[in-house]
Amino acid sequence: MNSAARTDHYDVTILGAGISSTIVASILARQGLRVVMLEKNSHPKFAIGESTIPTTSGLLSLLAVRYGVPELKHLTSAAALLDNVSNTCGIKKNFGFVYHRTDAPRHPDEFNQVGAGEGWETEAHLFRQDVDAYMLHTAIRYGVRVHQNIDVTSVDLRDDGVITHTKGGRSFSSKFVVDGTGWDSVIARQEKLRTGLSEIRTHSRSIFTHMLDVRPYEECVSIDTPSKLSQGTLHHLFDGGWMWVIPFNNHERSKNRLVSVGLQLDPRRWPRRPELAAEDEFREFLQRHPDVALQFRDAKAVREWTVTGNRVQYNSHRNVGKRYALLSHAMGFIDPLFSRGLQNTYAAIAMMIPAILDAFRDGDFSVERFESLNTLQETLIRGNDQLVHSSYVSFRDHRLWNAWYRFWVLGSMYGMLAVNYVRAQRQLTGDDAWLDKVNSFEANGWIAPNDREVVDLVDRGAAVMSEVEAGQIGVEAAVERIQSLLDSADFIPPFYPIRELHKRTHEVGPEAEQRVLRWLTQEIPQHLRDKYFHFDLSILEKLHAAELKEAGAKFDEIVSDGRTLGLRLHRLASQDAAITPAE
Ligand SMILES: Cc1cc2nc3c(=O)[nH]c(=O)nc-3n(C[C@H](O)[C@H](O)[C@H](O)COP(=O)(O)OP(=O)(O)OC[C@H]3O[C@@H](n4cnc5c(N)ncnc54)[C@H](O)[C@@H]3O)c2cc1C
Repeated sequence: MNSAARTDHYDVTILGAGISSTIVASILARQGLRVVMLEKNSHPKFAIGESTIPTTSGLLSLLAVRYGVPELKHLTSAAALLDNVSNTCGIKKNFGFVYHRTDAPRHPDEFNQVGAGEGWETEAHLFRQDVDAYMLHTAIRYGVRVHQNIDVTSVDLRDDGVITHTKGGRSFSSKFVVDGTGWDSVIARQEKLRTGLSEIRTHSRSIFTHMLDVRPYEECVSIDTPSKLSQGTLHHLFDGGWMWVIPFNNHERSKNRLVSVGLQLDPRRWPRRPELAAEDEFREFLQRHPDVALQFRDAKAVREWTVTGNRVQYNSHRNVGKRYALLSHAMGFIDPLFSRGLQNTYAAIAMMIPAILDAFRDGDFSVERFESLNTLQETLIRGNDQLVHSSYVSFRDHRLWNAWYRFWVLGSMYGMLAVNYVRAQRQLTGDDAWLDKVNSFEANGWIAPNDREVVDLVDRGAAVMSEVEAGQIGVEAAVERIQSLLDSADFIPPFYPIRELHKRTHEVGPEAEQRVLRWLTQEIPQHLRDKYFHFDLSILEKLHAAELKEAGAKFDEIVSDGRTLGLRLHRLASQDAAITPAE
């Protein structure tokens, strides 16, 4: 048969073969579906989205166990990546934020850090071309049929299935299609899903590349942070934007010398100048921020700068429809601040997979079955926009940033603990039903989205930032308002420290986590405990007592020692159950 006229038949067609598509493809194939994945380019290929966060890794670990795909677990920490995937990834022990005043020297106290303590499961800097290729091969091993260098042009969405058409005239027939083609999404374009962006408040554009010979920042200036800035993702903040510095060369076992560098600029404050090459714009920026420039004295870009349009934001008014679902990066994107892109991607995958499997089981692909995915993705985009837009407003003054970003710390803490809670409950009870929480709102990794009080607090914080933006209040008044909002809430743990604005660093490690978890399991307000942290303490205590007994402890010590409950929860969460490996 002439290949141009051939139609191949599958259960699911997946458009694109980036990280999201390859994960979905691997899971669906592992669950027994016949999957084809169509990629315009070929691996290995450059991709952006390099910095992970604890909820990203927590969600992926849950997906690994839930669907029996252990390779996903290999993406969840720097050590696992270096052991199993590639020796090109870096480690992320902290989020560092260093504030700079344009055309002026840095003020020594203007920095913040959220960092992991020693011994904590650490996040990673993904060298995406290797990670994505690893996942491509994983998908192939699970039986996914992959075509690279094949450009999808359109999809014919019918009542009884989908025909996917490619530039070369090939057709693929399937019951369902998943679009993972990112910002240039085939289905968003075809179905006219993109919004005009009037609903999105964040405005930013990007220029980014990979560089050699970027110096560790702590060797450039005198700065006293609990965890070395070069051991994490560094953010240089300034009025109207921020810069990321993501080292792949910061782990003793990494053989990669590259560092990812990108500038995010509000085009209203930093308009594009088409006559200026990206490298020149970067150098000009450095001249105006002399304390950032120190880090790049010897740095050289090793690839062409990627330059986005005037706004990196895009959004869709729907992300599911007749026989299709869009993955997060195809649906919308706000800004890389806080590294939430992959988090949104994995949350969408967690909700999409059971909906697809159920649709196949019941032979019913009605759109209503995918509505909660639509709502989830809209919620995540809205939440991200609120978080990032308010952050850009706060960049005008470090005092403002130092106040506002505590809502992010709070939300991230709840998000992380909610995911760990599900993982730990599964371990404690041995009940796989807990894994189904992976597709629930509770475990989507963002601020307790079902709890009005928490959401209201963040909304009220964002409203203060809107008043600042509108020129209705000044910086000092805004900081005072945020302080009183934080003081008024009964669900902010009395440590970390979130309320204490004079404390600029937050250490997140087993010890801090023990205290947080103890608070969450015993002192947290009832409305939150019932939803997110309702542990059966007696099981924990029994396990803990058995462990202490083994170590020869006396009974009194056993009952009085509640401090290690948190550590136990964390250990349980990070172990997960044995996963059936790929055949
Ligand atoms: C500047 C920037 C920085 C970011 N930083 C972070 C970060 O630090 N942390 C984080 O978590 N997230 C970050 N993100 C988000 C992150 O990049 C995405 O969440 C992630 O890459 C999504 O992966 P994906 O596989 O869905 O999409 P992509 O990686 O974009 O893959 C899409 C794939 O589809 C293919 N394709 C496109 N069109 C077609 C077609 N017509 N036919 C066939 N194939 C096609 C492409 O070739 C590509 O392989 C960042 C995003 C941007 C823009």
